[in-house]
Amino acid sequence: MSISFDTASLKRLAESHMVPTYAQAPFVASHGRGSDLYDLEGNRYLDFTGGIAVNALGHSHPRVVDAICQQAHKIIHTSNLHTHPGYVALCHRLVELTCGDSVFLTNSGSEAMEAALKLARRHFHHRGTPRERFVATENSFHGRTLGATSVTGQTSYREGYGPLFDTRLVPFNDIEAMRGAIDETVAAVVIEPIQGNGGIHVATDAYLQAITERCRETSTLLIVDEVQTGGGRTGRWWGYEHSGITPDILTLAKAIGGGMPVGAMVSRRELTECFTPGSHGSTFGGNPVSCAAGLATLEVIATEGLVERAASAGAAFQEKLRALPSSRVVEVRGRGLMIGVALSDAAKPVRDAARERGLLITLGGPNVLRVLPPLNATDAEFDEAFALLADALSA
Ligand SMILES: *Cc1c(COP(=O)(O)O)cnc(C)c1O
Repeated sequence: MSISFDTASLKRLAESHMVPTYAQAPFVASHGRGSDLYDLEGNRYLDFTGGIAVNALGHSHPRVVDAICQQAHKIIHTSNLHTHPGYVALCHRLVELTCGDSVFLTNSGSEAMEAALKLARRHFHHRGTPRERFVATENSFHGRTLGATSVTGQTSYREGYGPLFDTRLVPFNDIEAMRGAIDETVAAVVIEPIQGNGGIHVATDAYLQAITERCRETSTLLIVDEVQTGGGRTGRWWGYEHSGITPDILTLAKAIGGGMPVGAMVSRRELTECFTPGSHGSTFGGNPVSCAAGLATLEVIATEGLVERAASAGAAFQEKLRALPSSRVVEVRGRGLMIGVALSDAAKPVRDAARERGLLITLGGPNVLRVLPPLNATDAEFDEAFALLADALSA
């Protein structure tokens, strides 16, 4: 059976055949180059959603495309019955870039979180002092598996999936509530350095330092979810670096694959040794093509100075957004190029108005516009985005 690839037919088929988990834009994506995304009708959009923080290098960066093609010609899949150079090289690179020294590769952020939660429980089991409870924050987002859902602090993502893992949810940035929730029964605390999906709320340095201290006092493990903050977006390689803390476990994904499915759980060898052969695994995790894309992406971020670029362009763009001539803008917050624009009213109509004008941005809750530009967006593109957003706000 053949189908016709025009927008109306595809949208109709999507409606009948796709599980209705997504409220999607009216257009169908065709192709992209850098910060530009094109739909099937040939309309161009300036993509400041960045595939929800995935496209740190924009769309189809030539270095990433080359790496993917070369690897695909060599070998596409090996299984984890043997390793391959890309797997080892990507682990090595992540060890160089983070506070960890032991890496497990996954296909997504949720799977990285799942590995982290399993590691935490297994670590305490292995020591003969079992702990199964977790502490996380209200309004957080950590992914879609049952484990990740358990530590996600938003009702709409949890509802109907119980029973979930025993997790205490505490208000974000509340030091006393967090200190009170952590004791010797808690396997791990899970925290985003900046709540992304929940509306771009930056954890204070004092908060992250207090969590770290309380975790040390109680031997509780600290899992920092860098899935959205990682890869340079905040103006440092990883969000935790801003606060001078050393997490026990990091979860990474999104940007580090340059658009291919790459996730990672990074920890220390002394903790991961409880993951003995057979105790955890993934068929596709560390796939050669994904690893090649990941390595190329991290190399471009490093060699083109995009972490520094995220810091400087982010500061400039945030400053500019603070001067938006609209009384609807309540607050502009974030770090680097992870930016939230909080409005006095609903954000959805502004997102839609921006799209109609050719700018793609996303939401972070009902009143927050989430802006996640490619780290290599040009000054001209930032200017264009600003003009389109200002116009959308006055619509
Ligand atoms: C996107 C996201 C996840 C989930 O990642 P998936 O790849 O969608 O499974 C987890 N944590 C945070 C902070 C995220 O932004």
